[in-house]
Amino acid sequence: MLDIEKIRRDFPILERTVYGYPLVYLDNAATTQKPEQVLKAMDDYYHTINSNVHRGVHYLSQQATEAYEAARHTVADFINAAHTHEIIFTRGTSEAINLVAACFGKTELRPGDSILVSAVEHHSNIVPWQLIGEEKGATLKVIPVDENGDLIIDELDHLLKGVKIVAVNYVSNSLGGINPIREIIAAAHRHGIPVLVDAAQAVQHLTVDVQELDADFLAFSSHKIYGPTGFGILYGKESWLNKLPPYQGGGEMIKTVTFEKTTYNDLPYKFEAGTPDMAGAIGLAAAIGYVQELGISNIQQAEHSLMTYALDAMREIPNLRFVGAADATHRAGVISFLVGDIHPFDMGEILDKQGIAVRTGHHCAQPVMDRYCIPGTVRASLAIYNNRTDIDRLTAGIRKAVKLLA
Ligand code: PMP
Repeated sequence: MLDIEKIRRDFPILERTVYGYPLVYLDNAATTQKPEQVLKAMDDYYHTINSNVHRGVHYLSQQATEAYEAARHTVADFINAAHTHEIIFTRGTSEAINLVAACFGKTELRPGDSILVSAVEHHSNIVPWQLIGEEKGATLKVIPVDENGDLIIDELDHLLKGVKIVAVNYVSNSLGGINPIREIIAAAHRHGIPVLVDAAQAVQHLTVDVQELDADFLAFSSHKIYGPTGFGILYGKESWLNKLPPYQGGGEMIKTVTFEKTTYNDLPYKFEAGTPDMAGAIGLAAAIGYVQELGISNIQQAEHSLMTYALDAMREIPNLRFVGAADATHRAGVISFLVGDIHPFDMGEILDKQGIAVRTGHHCAQPVMDRYCIPGTVRASLAIYNNRTDIDRLTAGIRKAVKLLA
């Protein structure tokens, strides 16, 4: 069993107070806090080996390159990629999806084609497809969601007609539901259609094995898994990455350049134009190391237990209703809720004044809110350092808000 109190001591920000209260940080689906191990790895990088990678013959550049490429190895191992060169460094999930939409769209999409997404996608997995769709004359189709937040996949074979690529999240950031990603991938593959998995809310909560999933592409963000902001991963099967044209042009992604013709670099560099975020890669590798040391199945167990505790406690609050799955088994990390007709923003403000950080609004998933005819939700999202005291403070805070607003 994990020692949560020991884990908490790794995260210095948890010691601070907000409006005189000890901080309760329950906005982890927006971004997670960073442990000392990550902060130190990035600090060490800038203090001791900062230099540009892949370019210099000098000692520091070689050390920076080694650390940077070791990070790629760590990521490949973490998601069980078959090859290290299937790991592309990006600025985050959004950039990873934009990359696939732009490059795949350029060569594979034709007028009249469709892209299949789900009803619970983050805007990052909707808008890039609309942008390329407008250019290519392709449109979105949507896997519907039921009242409980479960995707309805009975009609999948029918929905897949005319689809060129499927793009779905593993875990919804707005409702927290774990989606039937294996079934979706299997169905798409029966029709020879590739699948991109948005794993931004999955990698920090569940085991993600790209080979076992047989995902064609998979994206996640460093900052959601205790690593630095502005850094992320695109995994792509070698065959797909070789087939796609480059994304951005610049240094690093080329082999030879003349004014007449340029030839492109091998994987993964073909997709990594310009000086990369070395400290970001090293920070993410430290974060993954941290998670691996705790053990993702231990993390899953601890979070499941806290989720059960939280759902049970919140069920006792009159007029509180969950949006999405109401049991811990089908959820990872996120509790989206409303109380009576209290506006989520008002609830969020009163919680904030008690030192409790939650998110309110549509959580970058407006179509989900439209589906349930609500303006938004209050979202409390868990990470490995949250404990029962955090949940007790949350439920007491909600009760206080109800008293003030009723
Ligand atoms: N998809 C999901 C499911 C997310 O939760 C997020 C972040 N909220 C994103 C995509 C976008 O990630 P980023 O802003 O780090 O690019």
